[in-house]
Amino acid sequence: MGFLLFSVCFVLLILVVNHLRRPARRRAHQLAIADSFDGDVAGDLFDTAPVGYLDVDRAGIVLRANRRQCKLLGLQASEVIGKHCADLVPESERGRYREQLLRRMSGQIALVPYQREHIRPDGSKVSMEMHEQLLRNEAGAAVGMRLSAIDVTERKKSEDAAYQTATELRALFQAFPDLFLRLNREGTVLDAKGGQRSDPFLAPEKFAGRNLKQILPAAALEQVQQAEEKVRHSNAMEIVDFTVADRAGSQTYEMRVLPMDWDQWIAIVRNITARNADEQKLKQYAQELERKNEELESAVITTREATRMKSRFLANMSHEIRTPMNGVLGMTDFLLGTELTGEQREYAESIKRSADSLLGLVNDILDLSRIEAGKLRMERVVFPLRSTVEETGSFFAKQARAKGLELQTSISSSLPRDAMGDPGRLRQVLTNLLGNAIKFTERGRVQRTVEPVSQTKDTFKVRFVVQDTGIGIPHSAHDQLFESFTQVDDSSTRKYGGTGLGLAISKQLVEMLGGEIGVESEPGRGSRFWFTVSLGKASMVERPAPPPVSRTAQMAAKPVEPARPAASAHEPVPLKPVAVSKPAIHAKPVEQQPPTSALAPNRRILIAEDNEINQRIALRLLQKLGLDADAVVNGKEAVEAVAKRKYDLVLMDCQMPGMDGFEATAVIRSREGKGRHLPICALTANAMEGDRERCLAAGMDDYLSKPVGLEKLREALERWIPGGGALAPKTSAAGFRN
Ligand code: ADP
Repeated sequence: MGFLLFSVCFVLLILVVNHLRRPARRRAHQLAIADSFDGDVAGDLFDTAPVGYLDVDRAGIVLRANRRQCKLLGLQASEVIGKHCADLVPESERGRYREQLLRRMSGQIALVPYQREHIRPDGSKVSMEMHEQLLRNEAGAAVGMRLSAIDVTERKKSEDAAYQTATELRALFQAFPDLFLRLNREGTVLDAKGGQRSDPFLAPEKFAGRNLKQILPAAALEQVQQAEEKVRHSNAMEIVDFTVADRAGSQTYEMRVLPMDWDQWIAIVRNITARNADEQKLKQYAQELERKNEELESAVITTREATRMKSRFLANMSHEIRTPMNGVLGMTDFLLGTELTGEQREYAESIKRSADSLLGLVNDILDLSRIEAGKLRMERVVFPLRSTVEETGSFFAKQARAKGLELQTSISSSLPRDAMGDPGRLRQVLTNLLGNAIKFTERGRVQRTVEPVSQTKDTFKVRFVVQDTGIGIPHSAHDQLFESFTQVDDSSTRKYGGTGLGLAISKQLVEMLGGEIGVESEPGRGSRFWFTVSLGKASMVERPAPPPVSRTAQMAAKPVEPARPAASAHEPVPLKPVAVSKPAIHAKPVEQQPPTSALAPNRRILIAEDNEINQRIALRLLQKLGLDADAVVNGKEAVEAVAKRKYDLVLMDCQMPGMDGFEATAVIRSREGKGRHLPICALTANAMEGDRERCLAAGMDDYLSKPVGLEKLREALERWIPGGGALAPKTSAAGFRN
C-alpha cells in the first residue's frame, strides 16, 4: 500500500513537474528560433549594407568583409579575409598603418574619421571616408575593430573641381583690372573683388559693404538703377558709361550690369578713359587717312590725266614726225634709184642715214612710253629661232666689215629650229646689243653666242651673249646702264651718239619675255652683255593641211618653212593652236622666201591719203610693184571712188580732213553685199598701242605704219591680193618698225 502510494505520488510529481516545465521549454524553443533569426538578419544587414565593413581582430587580421567593402577595394572576399588589413594600403604606408592601428586598438589615439584613397587592381581610384569602431567582448575588452568605408569619390571630385574653380577665380580676380561687384536690389555691395591699384576709384574696399548711392554721382546712379531694373526683366547684359571727376581730372567708366537672381545682380566696372582716348585718336587717324586717300585719288586722277596727255602728245608727235619722215625716206630711196653724181649720192646716203637714225629715235621713245604706260603687248607666235638670230647678225655684217671687225656667231646645235614667242621684240633686244657692240668697238671682234639654259614640258630658256673687244664700261657705271637716258659718257664732247634708251628698253623687253639681262665689262678690255628669254616649244602647235584661201585664212598666218610645192609657198596657212589654255596664240610669218611669181596683171589699188608727198610715194611704190593705182585725198572721195570702180585693195590713211579713214571704211563695209569684201589696209602714221586694234575694229583688214618701204608694202599686198607674190626685189627694212 505504501509502495502504491509512493508510486502514485511519484507519477503525480512527474506530471506536476512536466506540467510546470512545459512553458519554459516552449520559451527556450522560441528563443532558439529567435536567436537563429537574429543571426541571419544581422548577417544579411552586414553583407548588404551600402557602407563597406571590414572586421579585424586585435592583430589586424581581417575576419570578415561585406560585399560593399570588397567592391570598394576591387577584391574578392577570399582575397581580403585572413590578410592583415595593412596589406590593403599601399606598401609605402604599411609600416606606419600597422603601428597606428595598434595604438588605436589599445585606445592610445582617439578614433576620428579620416579619408584615404585606394587604387584598385584595375587601376581605378576610389576615395573613401573611413570610420573606425572598436569591437569588445562581454568583459568590455577590445577584441578587434570594425572599419567602415563610405565611398566619397564623386563628392571628392566635385570638391576638387570647386576648389580648382575657386583658385582660378581668385587668380583671375587678382589679375583682373575690372572691379567685380555683387549687389542686392537696394544697391548695397555684398561682395567686391578685383579692381586696379592704379585707380583708387576701382579699389574693392571703396565699394565693399557700401551702397552705390554713397559712391556714384547722382546721374550715374540713376542710369545704373535703370539698367539694373531692365536687366532683371530681360535677363540680358546692359552697359552704362559714366564719368567721375576728382582732383586728378575726370575719368570715364563703363559698368556692365549682369543678371544673377531676383534679389542680386552683378556689376563689372572698368576704367575706359584710355580706351576712349585711343578710339578718339583712331577716329582722327581714320579721318586723316580718308582725307589723304581723297588727295591721293585726285593726285592719281591728275597723274592719269597727265599720262593720258603725254600719250596723246607722243601719239601726235609720232604722227607728225612719221608723216614727213615717210616723205624723206621714200623720196631719198627714189633719189638713190636715179642717176647721181658721186657727190650727190654721198649727200643722199647721208640724208638716208640721218633719217634712219631719227626714225630709230622716234621708235625708241615710243617704245619707252608704251612700256611706261603698260601698253606694250608681247606676241606669241611660232617663228624660226635660229634664222631669226642669224638674220639679225647679217643685218650688221656690213657695218662690222666697214669697221674692220670680225663678226662671229655661234648657235648651239641643241636649240630647236622653231620657237614660240615674240620674234620682233627678241630681234629688237639683239639688235640693240649688237648695235652697241659694233658702235663701241674699234678693233677686234664681236661675238654672238646662243645656247639653251633649261627647259620645262612646254617652255625652254635660251641665253644670248654678245661679247666685244671694245672700250668697255667702268664698274661704277654697271648699275645704271639699264636705266633710261643713261650713258657712260654723257659729256658734250662724247664721241659716240645715242640716246641712252636702248639698254633700258632691252631690260624691260627681256623681263617681259620672262628673262634677265646683265653685263660684265672692264674698261679697255671689252664688254659681255647677256640676256635670257623664256620661249614656248613650237611643238605645242600642229600644222594642219592648208585650207582654201579665204578672208579668215588671210588674217591668220603663214608657216615658217612650208613643206609644200613652191607654187603655193606663199598661200597663207593658219597654224592651229593645240593647247586650249593658250587662246591668244596665233602664228604669223616672220621670214618670207623671195617671190617666185608675179602679181596677177590688171590689179588696181586705191590710195586715200591727204599728204601730197606721201601720196606720191605710195603711187610710186605701187608703180614699182607693177600695179595700177588711183589716189584720193579724203574718206568721202574714197567712198565715191570705190562705188564707181572695182579695186583690189584700198590703202587707207586714218587721219584725213572731212571724212577720216575709219568712217570711210565703215561706209564702204555697210555698202558691201554678202559675197563681196574689199581688202582695206590702214596706212597710218599712228603707231601707238591700240591703233592697230582700232583699225581692225573699224573694219579694216590690215595695218601698215608709216614710213612704208617697198618691202612692207609688197608683203601686205601679197597677203591680200590673191594670185602670187610681188615683182620687186627685197630691200632693207632697216629702221622700219611698227
Ligand atoms: P645708247 O647706246 O643709245 O647711248 P644704250 O642704252 O644702248 O644707249 O647704252 C647706254 C650706254 O651704255 C651707252 O651710251 C654706252 O656708254 C654704254 N654701252 C652700252 N653697250 C656698250 C658696249 N658694248 N661697250 C661699251 N659701252 C657700252
